[in-house]
Amino acid sequence: MDEKDRLYPSSCNPLFIKLGRPLPKEIAIIGAGTIGPDIGYYLKSALPDIKLYLVDIVEEPLKNAEKRIADYAKKAVDRRKMKEDKAEAVLNNIIYTMDYDQIKNCDLVIEAATERIPLKQDIFRRVEDIVGEDTIITSNTSSIPADRLFLNMKKPERTTITHFFAPAWRSLPVEVITWAGGSQEVVDYLLWFFAHTGKAPIITDNVICFMLDRIFDNWCNEAAYLLDHASASQIDAVVEEFVFAGPFYVLNMARGNPIIIETNTLQMEEGAHYRPAPIFGSVETWLTHRPGTRLKVPDDIRNAIRDRMLGILFSQSVDIIDRGIGTKEDLNFGCQVALGFRKGPFDIMKDLGEAEVSRIMGKFQEERPGFPQAREPFSAYQDFRRHILVDEMDGVKVITIRRPQAMNAISDEINDEILAVLKENVDDPSVNGFVITGYGLSAFSAGADIGRFPEMLGDRDASVQYSKDCAKVQLFMDQMDKPVVAAVNGLALGGGLEIAIRCHSIVATRNATFQFPEITLGILPGIGGCIVPYRKWPQGAGIFHEMICLARRITAKEAADIGMATTITDDYAEMIREAVREVKNIQGKIKRVPDRSVKIPEITIPAQPVAGNLILSKEAISIIEKTIKDGAAADNLADALEIGYKGFAEIACTDAAKEGISAFLEKRKPEFKS
Ligand code: NAD
Repeated sequence: MDEKDRLYPSSCNPLFIKLGRPLPKEIAIIGAGTIGPDIGYYLKSALPDIKLYLVDIVEEPLKNAEKRIADYAKKAVDRRKMKEDKAEAVLNNIIYTMDYDQIKNCDLVIEAATERIPLKQDIFRRVEDIVGEDTIITSNTSSIPADRLFLNMKKPERTTITHFFAPAWRSLPVEVITWAGGSQEVVDYLLWFFAHTGKAPIITDNVICFMLDRIFDNWCNEAAYLLDHASASQIDAVVEEFVFAGPFYVLNMARGNPIIIETNTLQMEEGAHYRPAPIFGSVETWLTHRPGTRLKVPDDIRNAIRDRMLGILFSQSVDIIDRGIGTKEDLNFGCQVALGFRKGPFDIMKDLGEAEVSRIMGKFQEERPGFPQAREPFSAYQDFRRHILVDEMDGVKVITIRRPQAMNAISDEINDEILAVLKENVDDPSVNGFVITGYGLSAFSAGADIGRFPEMLGDRDASVQYSKDCAKVQLFMDQMDKPVVAAVNGLALGGGLEIAIRCHSIVATRNATFQFPEITLGILPGIGGCIVPYRKWPQGAGIFHEMICLARRITAKEAADIGMATTITDDYAEMIREAVREVKNIQGKIKRVPDRSVKIPEITIPAQPVAGNLILSKEAISIIEKTIKDGAAADNLADALEIGYKGFAEIACTDAAKEGISAFLEKRKPEFKS
């Protein structure tokens, strides 16, 4: 069986899971040390109305936890990431206690106490005696397989491991472990629950250290063995090519030395080569630099560090896949999102190429015998979709853009992956059509990567070509006979909205919003965004003028009023059901983008055009006005789209675009001169 089907028998997108139980009302976290309070803060921020118990056997961590959670909430308010009344609700109803009996009504208990098997087993025995029959009980252990913790419990089927990553209040992934004694219903519920509360859960098999810590722990351990050849600072500096912060810097931040000793000792059950480097036992803090500090490392040392660290990374990655511990998709995604890798391990392998990877792995085998080597050919580790999940529902392929770390922003790779799924299935008679949606509850897609665009600035021909290259998915959908429905689950902005409007129908949740923010960057929606909405929904022309020229954001209701959204739903589950139903509704009745000119009202722009408190560029707006007018007047779609691409190229040659894009890259507010 394919690993994906084995690990994800229900669905790849966790929000598609049909629920057998409601959201928890009371949750307990056992252990208020380093990570427990962070898990608590995440839960209360996502579900402010729950009652949360933080339980410890020592008073001091409880006091520290209370202060830490209050500080988090204050910082969130100060930075305007949270409203004051929400912060109040977050801090309300948190019970810091040493009395286990208080947790008796909890629906979910997450243990985050000291990493020791007998201690954890004791906790679970105690918890099981106190809580109700249906309470789900999980452990946040970094390394201990589930059977060693839960097998002797009265009801092991309601247990599993839910492994968070630091900082747990912010880090997206949570590993949910599937194990023989646990029930699929519990795993499914937890997957749905974490996704519903803003996390990106991934499933891993029940092996020592699960999936991502096998990478992290061995990456750190190998770095420590390299100290015979290089300093901690040199090692951190060299691997910053691949990670945002080197292993020693991270170990200092997380006070991680004891964890590596603990976890790598456990991994020695698989072979002595996993032995923790002895130096972990004698060092408290590593002497290293802040990430980004420039450090000259001699070439021979650099090469030795680079090869060895890539050797361990590749060895662990292929082993995880060969043993079916996790999926390639999740490993590549998790390394970036949980462990701070700039690219996933399989992306690094792809960039280096087969010959170089083989050289590195061969050298690693000589230097560190015993570690796993690839069992499959190189291509087997490259054959997967990096950024989208594909589920099947009622004969409909549901494509989920999974890039929550960038609010599902569209990249060239995402475009290619969506297009490949459409092409692979378009002629398959068992496939009725497609739905495209975004991962999570907040964004369908919050735009498109700026990508290669900065290089195009000032170059008309290159900008036209760039614009056309970005339109591949849209042009393919234009000529499809099978329906593609956009299920808009939150923000649909810029490049994301360009995909949604080109689908054959839009279903949206009530909280969805639609916006073309391009003008705030001094550019215009260049993939058909100045053309297509007017042709599909001419009754909305006045609103589209404001959306494109002034970056006006519209609600799902407004989108429905002008016919742009077909159906509005109250929640995500209903949205997906409706979107799948809509595929069937419009089968054989797809409305093409009209191939004739369209009459649109005059565009009136205020003397001082603004978006919020940003003064917009009049020069850029005048190019947009002309593009919209000429596009509407064109008597066929192909010519109109060409006008749109040219408009994009023209605007790309203005000072406004230069300023807008520079400001974006420099993270400052643009100052448009004209
Ligand atoms: P920690 O040592 O900082 O805190 C553990 C807490 O558990 C302490 O406050 C201790 O008093 C408390 N405790 C001990 N016995 C207890 C009991 N019987 N009942 C209630 N509380 C008890 O450890 P930590 O770093 O917070 O890690 C906790 C768990 O989470 C470990 O299993 C660890 O492997 C795992 N984990 C930690 C991190 C991290 O970044 N720290 C990340 C992922 C997983």
